[in-house]
Amino acid sequence: MHEFGIAEAVLDAVEHRAKGRRVRRARVRAGALLRVSPAVLKQAFGLAATGTVAEGATLDLVVEPVRLVCRGCGHNALCDNPMTICGKCGGIDIDAEGGDRLVLESVQIVEAAHVPGDSGRDRGDPVRSA
Ligand SMILES: [Zn+2]
Repeated sequence: MHEFGIAEAVLDAVEHRAKGRRVRRARVRAGALLRVSPAVLKQAFGLAATGTVAEGATLDLVVEPVRLVCRGCGHNALCDNPMTICGKCGGIDIDAEGGDRLVLESVQIVEAAHVPGDSGRDRGDPVRSA
C-alpha cells in the first residue's frame, strides 16, 4: 500500500512535467529510508498510470543511499539499507541524514516524429505534434 501512495505522487510529478505529451520512460530516485520495493512500485505505477499520458511507460527506480551518523563515535557511512547499529563501534545511537526524499529525476517523452511500433496495441494512438 505504501508503494501506491508513492506511485501516485510520482505520477503527479510525471504528468506535470509531460504537459500532455506521452511519456515513454520516467526515472525516479527514492531515499533508502522510504524502503520502496522496486517491483511493487513499478506495478503500482503501471496501474496508476492507466488512462494517463504515462500509460505503458517504463519506470526506473534508483535507490538513494542514506547517510548514517553514529552519535557515539562519529563514524558515518552511506548505506542502501538503513541499519541501526554502527559498523565501527557497534553503538545503537544512530542518526539518519537524508534518505527520505522522493525525486523525479527525468522524464522521457515519446517523440511525435518517431513513434515506435507500440507492441501492436492501440495502433491509432493520437500523438500531439505541439
Ligand atoms: Zn560508532
